[in-house]
Amino acid sequence: MKALTSHLLRDHVLVGAVAAALLIPVFGGWGSLVFWLATILIDLDHYLNFVFRSGFKYFSLPLMFRFHHALFQRKDRSDYLDIEVFHTVEFFVLFAVLAFGFFPPLEPAFWGLAFHIAVDLVHLACHRILARRAHSFPEYFLRVKYMRSKGMDPEIVFLEALCEVPLRGKQA
Ligand SMILES: [Zn+2]
Repeated sequence: MKALTSHLLRDHVLVGAVAAALLIPVFGGWGSLVFWLATILIDLDHYLNFVFRSGFKYFSLPLMFRFHHALFQRKDRSDYLDIEVFHTVEFFVLFAVLAFGFFPPLEPAFWGLAFHIAVDLVHLACHRILARRAHSFPEYFLRVKYMRSKGMDPEIVFLEALCEVPLRGKQA
């Protein structure tokens, strides 16, 4: 079975390409390309998350997909809480300030970001896992604190997922 994140990434590539094509009259050719690239590149934080959670031991893309697939299989666990840096409200606002206040060529990238997050929210809602992802840093830290006060360890899910990914492809 293919890793869920690779399916989702494929969906982002395809849905984003259709949206970018439809937006050519608005953004122009280059602007639409920037929009499309932004809809894909925002997911780089899944990779950064994997590298971070592995303690900077693993850098392999296939392992990253397996890791996120292992996490998805734990999606109904109440001790599972994740955060993806580029998907937070704080990053979104920072990017808006940059694009609209300082560097207008980034405006299509901002809309690409917004489009991607909308697709993600639909995906999370369809799987009833909106609550598995914290959408801002204060939310994340408050929820981690609450979980710990209830005797839950939010690291366990990630350690289990790491143990599950085969070590083949490991790059130290
Ligand atoms: Zn995403």
